[in-house]
Amino acid sequence: MNRSIEIFEEAQKVIPGGVNSPVRAFKSVGMSPIFVQRAKGSKVFDVDGNVYVDYIGSWGPLILGHASDIVSEGIMAFINNGTSYGLPTEIEVDIAKLISEAYPSMEMVRMVNSGTEATMSALRVARGYTNRNKILKFEGCYHGHSDSLLVKSGSGTLTYGIPTSAGVPQKVVEDTLVSEFNNIEKLEEVFNNNKGEIAAVIVEPVPGNMGVIAPKVEFLEALRRITKEEGTLLIFDEVITGFRMAYGGAQEVYNIEPDMTCLGKIIGGGLPVGAYGGKKEIMEMIAPLGNVYQAGTLSGNPIAVKMGYNTLTYLKENKEIYQQLEDKAIVLEKAFQENIKAVGINATVNRVKSMLTVFFSDGIVDSYEKASQSDTTLYGKYFKGMLEEGILLPPAQFEGMFLSTAHSDDDLEKTILANKKVLENIIR
Ligand code: PMP
Repeated sequence: MNRSIEIFEEAQKVIPGGVNSPVRAFKSVGMSPIFVQRAKGSKVFDVDGNVYVDYIGSWGPLILGHASDIVSEGIMAFINNGTSYGLPTEIEVDIAKLISEAYPSMEMVRMVNSGTEATMSALRVARGYTNRNKILKFEGCYHGHSDSLLVKSGSGTLTYGIPTSAGVPQKVVEDTLVSEFNNIEKLEEVFNNNKGEIAAVIVEPVPGNMGVIAPKVEFLEALRRITKEEGTLLIFDEVITGFRMAYGGAQEVYNIEPDMTCLGKIIGGGLPVGAYGGKKEIMEMIAPLGNVYQAGTLSGNPIAVKMGYNTLTYLKENKEIYQQLEDKAIVLEKAFQENIKAVGINATVNRVKSMLTVFFSDGIVDSYEKASQSDTTLYGKYFKGMLEEGILLPPAQFEGMFLSTAHSDDDLEKTILANKKVLENIIR
């Protein structure tokens, strides 16, 4: 790890914490981060010549693996024609059509540059449309780092113990209500206490930012029912689940139609992209049609959109990959569970489709409360042990592992053997 350590020392002088996004610092697992040289397929190569089987997958986007020829097909021709115009291009229309076709609830789509922008903008539109100010989110769900959503958040905010960020004025979050994911009673209570005031509920239909948590279907159904009754918009944040759980995302799997949807990650094929959309009537609130303002110098950037378009086109024509991805995740889930049992360690595996988390926790983890009781020190040891065995996991307990089409049977076998060995070592 010598070169990585050297670079990290330099990095810390000029970049806060040495990284451009907090979880990358490996701080919560008590290590110095690896610096990446390149990646291909399921593998990441670091600057010290180590090779890892990668389950971060850029935190979700790389469903077809690293540096996929499918994703980059024709990209040089695009680049050679210019990288950004600040004018509309046809590929933006093509991707909007693809997205809208896959997500019928998204009759109209706006491209942005990140998941953060997608959720932030969707909320603004929802508030404009309903003429209400309050929004409701759930503890442990992460929707990016815009001010009004950095309340009892997940992902890095949970990992670093700052679920409610400093620098966000109290006034800004006064209208952010928070409830418990998977708890219908609490949801009803919040609505009863805020009659006619809630513009939108924003939710990760399958939370991935407190580790992967399976939703209770009744909870998602209650969300749809209550929001409809109350004239509140239901926003599905499918930045992770979109085009991952299924081609049509969590809304297809659970057969629930939200009013608005936020996407990111996979739809950019590894480049910075986000999108939000919804019913026509709602989306027509946005300028230049309506009076809700949202814009972006690089929004709908043709290179990023082309990479996303290639990805979505492939997924559309090869939907069998979703079952294959799930099968791979099941192989890991079962083997991890067997290993946990054989070793006799307090841990459990949560899996939804091709996403999973090993929680160092007692019993079932189906809520924020249970997830946050996990032994993060043990997770740190597990992470470090796995890294030494050539397996790259998310460097934090409250994140998910992502499978890609590039993961081979050999990769899975190697991962399972490492899991057994490392669990045995950390319990000693
Ligand atoms: N929503 C969800 C569900 C996410 O997982 C994330 C990022 N992990 C975001 C929003 C924010 O996306 P970005 O990091 O692209 O701003």
